[in-house]
Amino acid sequence: MLTLQIPNYNPSSPAEEYDAAVIGCGVSGANIARRLSAYNIKVAILEKSADVSFGTSKANSGIVHGGFHHNKKYLKARLEIQGNLMFDQLRRELDFPFKRCGIIVAALHEDEMKSVEHLYRQGVENGVIGIELCSRERILELEPRLSSDVAGGLYAPGGGMIEPYRFVFALVESAIKNGVHLFTVFKVNSAEFKKEDAARGASHWIIHAEDGRTIRARYAVNAAGLFADEVSRIFGGEEFSIKGRKGEYFLMDKLSKARPDRVVFPVPTSVSKGMLVIPTVEGTVLVGPTADAVDSKTDFSTTTGRLEEILESGKAMIPSLSRNDVITSFAGLRPALEEDFYIEPSKKAPNFVQVAGIQSPGLTASPAIGEYVKDLLKGMGLSLTEKSGWDPFVSDRARARELSPFELDELIARDPAWGNIVCRCEQVSEAEIVQAIRLGHYTLDGVKYFTRAQMGRCQGGFCTYKIIKIIMRETGLSWNEVTKHGGTSRLLEAELS
Ligand SMILES: Cc1cc2nc3c(=O)[nH]c(=O)nc-3n(C[C@H](O)[C@H](O)[C@H](O)COP(=O)(O)OP(=O)(O)OC[C@H]3O[C@@H](n4cnc5c(N)ncnc54)[C@H](O)[C@@H]3O)c2cc1C
Repeated sequence: MLTLQIPNYNPSSPAEEYDAAVIGCGVSGANIARRLSAYNIKVAILEKSADVSFGTSKANSGIVHGGFHHNKKYLKARLEIQGNLMFDQLRRELDFPFKRCGIIVAALHEDEMKSVEHLYRQGVENGVIGIELCSRERILELEPRLSSDVAGGLYAPGGGMIEPYRFVFALVESAIKNGVHLFTVFKVNSAEFKKEDAARGASHWIIHAEDGRTIRARYAVNAAGLFADEVSRIFGGEEFSIKGRKGEYFLMDKLSKARPDRVVFPVPTSVSKGMLVIPTVEGTVLVGPTADAVDSKTDFSTTTGRLEEILESGKAMIPSLSRNDVITSFAGLRPALEEDFYIEPSKKAPNFVQVAGIQSPGLTASPAIGEYVKDLLKGMGLSLTEKSGWDPFVSDRARARELSPFELDELIARDPAWGNIVCRCEQVSEAEIVQAIRLGHYTLDGVKYFTRAQMGRCQGGFCTYKIIKIIMRETGLSWNEVTKHGGTSRLLEAELS
């Protein structure tokens, strides 16, 4: 049994009634809940996974898009533009890794310049600050690693990079600090609406989890990503079908000499923004993603054929990319619906808001989605008065790899666990792993996304067993209860010696 006392482990049904329940804790749900935490209402987040950000929000490009890829007639474009501008303040409040490194679109042939010019005009119409149409010389000046074949391109200095899961963790920590209750391993599987009556009070939803827990909430928000179609059905809402569209990536080592200074896009295709070369905010290089429709919403496999194409496509833009620097591959699934986001009050289910089809640029748009859904709920009758003590700030934790030797010595003097480097590739100490677990990240993936332990060149080859032992010690879980990402994802077949 877990010995930790953190709200999201609460295994019993909460007695109180919530004003709003947000179903799904990816970047959409986290932004919505945090925005609502600024008001005098009770908010619950219901998440089926063992941790937050375990859906699409963990496996994407991490780009804060520049606001020029989509026409403003689309809601997703308007929310992308607004969302992009919200990141500086969010960074100050939530202390997550974010860098406005700028975005380049590189035309590799003269005939691609027409598409680049179209993107540039669209960017100007969308009000993108500082957007530039670039000659060959200018684009090579901005990114000297580009192929000498480059014909010209576009530069949007306001585009950037974040670490997507750290963004979600910070949003959730802030929401919890301001009174939001998070329930993990809460898979919503049925719901019924009770109309207002004298005995039971105001109209509300009774929402049941698979394991028998129940909560009551006056309003419900469907932010269930790939499974938003199922959740809509559960609430008697609109019928629609979300299809997974897979994006495969290569991840390259921090030592890669091909790491560009800016995100490098090719000219987009009709179905996607193309395969990119991405300098992640933590110093690695991502190449991808593909865009392939898949039948299964749990198919995260990567394939040699597609990965070869990714490498070729990346090398066409940055020829110095080398297969030798590849440390792993992974895939994410876009929750594809129609061309646009579907964010509306349900016309069929009362007091129910749909936040579905949040594919790219969902990460960028997410702060604006939070604002938009708050306004929708207000329009539906949820009374929102500002909380006087709302505190928007949370601080990131100390990280051994970012400290000077003197700073690290000071921490070691207080707690020797700072001196025990568990993950050598990413220089993560035992103290950081303990901190992650105590904040609720008690699976191997949770520890990985919070601390970066297991994310380096050896991909956990040397540290996984040490982390399992720390999880067991801190939580009281036995060897066969520690999982990679919850459920039945156990790693061990026998006890560690
Ligand atoms: C390959 C790829 C690259 C991308 N790159 C970018 C990018 O660079 N920039 C950008 O802006 N956007 C990008 N995106 C889009 C972005 O990642 C998504 O828009 C965003 O992560 C969607 O977040 P979400 O919260 O809506 O969904 P999710 O993160 O999927 O969250 C939904 C949550 O709901 C939970 N859930 C589901 N069913 C239930 C249930 N019954 N009960 C309780 N909980 C439930 C899930 O467990 C999950 O945690 C990319 C997407 C992909 C796939």
